[in-house]
Amino acid sequence: MKTLDIVVPCYNEEEMLPIFYRELSNNLKNINWNVIFINDGSNDNTLEVIKKLKNSYGNVKYISFSRNFGKESAIYAGLDYSTGDYIVLMDADLQDPPSLIPEMLKYISKYDIVGTRRVTRKGEPPIRSFFARLFYKIANKITKIELVDGARDFRLMKREVVNAILDLKEYNRFSKGIFQWVGFETKWLEYENIERQKGETSWSFWELFKYSIEGIVSFTTAPLHIATIIGIFFSIIAFLSIIVIVIKTLLFGDPVEGWPSTISIILFLSGIQLFAAGIIGEYLAKIYLESKKRPLYIIKEKD
Ligand code: UDP
Ligand code: MG
Repeated sequence: MKTLDIVVPCYNEEEMLPIFYRELSNNLKNINWNVIFINDGSNDNTLEVIKKLKNSYGNVKYISFSRNFGKESAIYAGLDYSTGDYIVLMDADLQDPPSLIPEMLKYISKYDIVGTRRVTRKGEPPIRSFFARLFYKIANKITKIELVDGARDFRLMKREVVNAILDLKEYNRFSKGIFQWVGFETKWLEYENIERQKGETSWSFWELFKYSIEGIVSFTTAPLHIATIIGIFFSIIAFLSIIVIVIKTLLFGDPVEGWPSTISIILFLSGIQLFAAGIIGEYLAKIYLESKKRPLYIIKEKD
């Protein structure tokens, strides 16, 4: 019989975990399954709750980090620790309904991945939805991989897929992109957004913004090329203006004029220069972080 590992990153989920485990076992009858909790440096009693669950049930495994390393690191650690033939990745807050897992399993014989996407963003602040949509539009225009709007990290994967994901050892991890990048045949299941039951989301607007930049920088160098093209464009304009200005001066003399236009041009172009320098800086920062080759996470204890 094939085994199923359920990988669950947990950050301050003490209230959710018992409910989460109960929901899992209610939905996974007649299946040989294990759950791997990754305690991502929670500062509540998440680790104690995990250990209690482990004492009561034989199919609980866990990893506990030395501090909070972020969900991306927790995902990597969990996938790395998993040994099952099939692996489900899901959140602990029941926003990813366990009732969907049996349905996902039905498709896995024909596909390599069964992914899920939310068709609605019910319960999400409209401004967040707006920026999320905008991000997907921009990202899909300028990267070669296709990010699916509303795609969740909640997915079922075959062992081969997980191994491929683990081969991407980059330090700056953008899972949504990595999952697409490795390829394989995906079946998408759709469902309505479910609001978090207890606890609260740990994502602030600023973090999501940084995460979006991260996603784009990790998967395309297009912004660098755009900066080059803008540079070429303005160089041509500058060259043409020089010719016009020189001829005009030779023919009509050189009265001092055009102060407002000069200032506007200087301000505009220095803005663009700073912006381009910023883009280069983003990539440079990534190279810097990658070159240090620090581990993605540090394990304090595991079972
Ligand atoms: N999570 C984590 N490390 C973090 C933040 C979150 O492991 O630093 C886990 C969290 O416990 C949950 C999942 O990642 O299981 C998704 O987090 P959250 O619900 O806060 O994100 P959202 O659903 O709002 O995207
Ligand atoms: Mg959530």
